[in-house]
Amino acid sequence: MSRTNFYNVDLPELVKALQSWGEPFDQAHALARDIWHQAYTASVTDFSELTGIPPRVQQQLAGAFALRHPVELAQSTSRDGSTRKDLLALEDGAQIETGLLRYRDRHTICVSTRVGCACDCSFCATGRMGFVRQLHCDEIVAQVLHFQRWLTTQDKAVSNVVFMGMGEPLLNREQTLQAVRRLTDPRGLNLAPGRITLSTVGIAPEIEYLADVHSRWPIKLAISLHAATDDLRTKLMPINKTYPLARLHEAVRVYTEKTRRRVLFEWIMIAGVNDTQEQALALVTWLQDLASHVNLIRLNPTSAYDGTPSTGETTEAFSAILDQHKIPHTMRQRRGAGIDAGCGQLHARRRP
Ligand code: SF4
Repeated sequence: MSRTNFYNVDLPELVKALQSWGEPFDQAHALARDIWHQAYTASVTDFSELTGIPPRVQQQLAGAFALRHPVELAQSTSRDGSTRKDLLALEDGAQIETGLLRYRDRHTICVSTRVGCACDCSFCATGRMGFVRQLHCDEIVAQVLHFQRWLTTQDKAVSNVVFMGMGEPLLNREQTLQAVRRLTDPRGLNLAPGRITLSTVGIAPEIEYLADVHSRWPIKLAISLHAATDDLRTKLMPINKTYPLARLHEAVRVYTEKTRRRVLFEWIMIAGVNDTQEQALALVTWLQDLASHVNLIRLNPTSAYDGTPSTGETTEAFSAILDQHKIPHTMRQRRGAGIDAGCGQLHARRRP
């Protein structure tokens, strides 16, 4: 019989297992916390690597559970080493991408929540793949642990997680929020919820759900907006047919009122498409009564889309319009252009 993946087990279940192996109540609790902490924070790939855990317990753990990690199929690192993207194979052979963004003061992991995606955003390589399946909570957490293991060899640790990899996280909401719970567990990785950002294409009812559960999951919300008129946004992001800009605006208004948090809006700058004065002014109007911050990022070219990045000059002009209207924004550095770092590109390159 195949053993349960350890990363699918909750702490109380682990305590129960230890008690069933004869550990007294207090000892079982202390051991469980220690095992749990090491499994999530150290580069443990085998139970025999756990330090301070009696060998008999290590053997019992190995008999009952497996420490399953995805297999790294390909790795792509930017020349300056600041951005890395790995293609990972899961147990059933499904492939996903996970990224590492290294900054001076933080290490951010960009995780996938689904294998493929049905949203079909025109500029996204993952959209071209179609939808394959949902990721389970342990498969989402495993991506963070994949890089955590590597970072520990550099005396570093994961500091931030962004749900911006393959797949729309709010179309896999339950497993995504379970993964958030695991990542923020104080006995494990202990990431502050404010260091976790969930990025969505704008699934309006799910944004309202996040507003309702914000006190339990006070994570940050980012929305891929990319256009401020329905005709253009529908062309770029077909999900806009289901949740047009007026519906999305209503959901964001509810979210900002209930949570008192501002929302981050991502705007990929595509030459001649959404970098015009008309779009900048439409964006200003759309954001008028919302607590927001806009990130302008020049497009990461992909072979699946024939758009090109806006020039620096056009991006500056767009930014100047936002400035004039006092819309808080940042011109974000484009990362990983040379390493297929856009969502789904590494997978697409390896596809036969
Ligand atoms: S951008 Fe996100 S939601 Fe859109 S197709 Fe790509 S993975 Fe799916």
